[in-house]
Amino acid sequence: MSAPPRIGFVSLGCPKALVDSERILTRLRAEGYDVVGSYADADLVVVNTCGFIDDAVHESLEAIGEALAQNGRVIVTGCLGAQPEKITARHPAVLKVTGPQAYEELIAAVHEQLPPLHDPYLDLLPPQGIRLTPRHYAYLKIAEGCDHRCTFCIIPALRGRLRSRPLAEVMPEAERLVRAGVKELLVIAQDTSAWGRDLRHATGFRGGRPMNSSFTELARALGSLGAWVRLHYVYPYPQVDEIIPLMAGGQLLPYLDIPFQHGSPRILRLMKRPARTGNTLARIRAWREACPTLTLRSTFIVGFPGETAADFEQLLDWLREAQLDRVGCFRYSPVAGAAANALPDPVPEELKQERYERFMELAATISASRLAARIGSRTRVLVDGVEDRLAIARSAAEAPEIDGVVRIADPGTLRPGDHAEVEITGADAYDLSARRLAAGAP
Ligand code: SF4
Repeated sequence: MSAPPRIGFVSLGCPKALVDSERILTRLRAEGYDVVGSYADADLVVVNTCGFIDDAVHESLEAIGEALAQNGRVIVTGCLGAQPEKITARHPAVLKVTGPQAYEELIAAVHEQLPPLHDPYLDLLPPQGIRLTPRHYAYLKIAEGCDHRCTFCIIPALRGRLRSRPLAEVMPEAERLVRAGVKELLVIAQDTSAWGRDLRHATGFRGGRPMNSSFTELARALGSLGAWVRLHYVYPYPQVDEIIPLMAGGQLLPYLDIPFQHGSPRILRLMKRPARTGNTLARIRAWREACPTLTLRSTFIVGFPGETAADFEQLLDWLREAQLDRVGCFRYSPVAGAAANALPDPVPEELKQERYERFMELAATISASRLAARIGSRTRVLVDGVEDRLAIARSAAEAPEIDGVVRIADPGTLRPGDHAEVEITGADAYDLSARRLAAGAP
């Protein structure tokens, strides 16, 4: 068995810092790191700093300099980490700076620089963690919480404000998943395209190179891992325009899941939806021009309080014009604690049902015609399952669980997790059928 990775640790400052050090060391020991007493024996040194008064700042900077001189691989954390520029200005060679109480970020930085050993006899967890999805796809949650206040939703009250997971956490997790055999990453958050806003788009590092904590940069980095990358719960903020070229260029799947929720500006205002202003139909047209293979998925709510017949017709017109590929719809139902409950003019249940049926009928017609247009085309698919001489697969245009599937007759040796080239031979309202093409077929 290989030797465990060895960490040197310098703890400076007050008892609170000491407790932080103990907590970090406990976690590292539990993960199998050896904590060693000299710089020479360590593979990496963590310096937990103090920045309370000038003397403490001086002492911390000296300690970082000593660790760099004697070991060379240094991560800095603690109170002085709240002012990273003070550290990097004097010691640009430090590998990473994390702030006080940023335990997860620090542990992620240690993992990135010095991965823990995976011992199949002792570790209860596989390297990719425990996942409930099949081996070949995985959800990658990039943030918690939400800064919006949509009137029908209580998630911000339940989960709090937006907290983006730092780059040092998200990228190593994505890399681990891909190394463990994941072929498709499904990127999720309550508001995926807001990622990094609460981090003030701080600069992080990937592979030693600086990288902004912006949604576009993250999408680009994820797109470089060699797996399919699918974006869910994206709001149409202006920066979404920047990721369309990544889709057209093949780095990201040309698939956008944008919960538009309605087509009437009046209802969107009542819903207090993010990015509700601006002409979404014009944006959709521009996206499709830039990336003709783009698949658009969305969800809608019918029967929102105050929705008039005219609002509903406007929604249908919007959908006819938008020609979305995949659409889900909910009848509005009041959630305890949601602000929308106080809005006047609730829509009667029978009317909600009637509007739901009309909406879904139109959505099915659009879906059927868009799928029929794919007959005869060739596409790459990822196989989810094989049963009774039939493979159930998906192309870039189908997300698992929520969209339709591509059924391949006579799949031969195909197994779950395999990619295959197919020709689309048939379509119904939601699913496609296909035949497998021989490898290298013209
Ligand atoms: S529905 Fe609105 S408030 Fe709720 S999580 Fe989504 S963006 Fe946030």
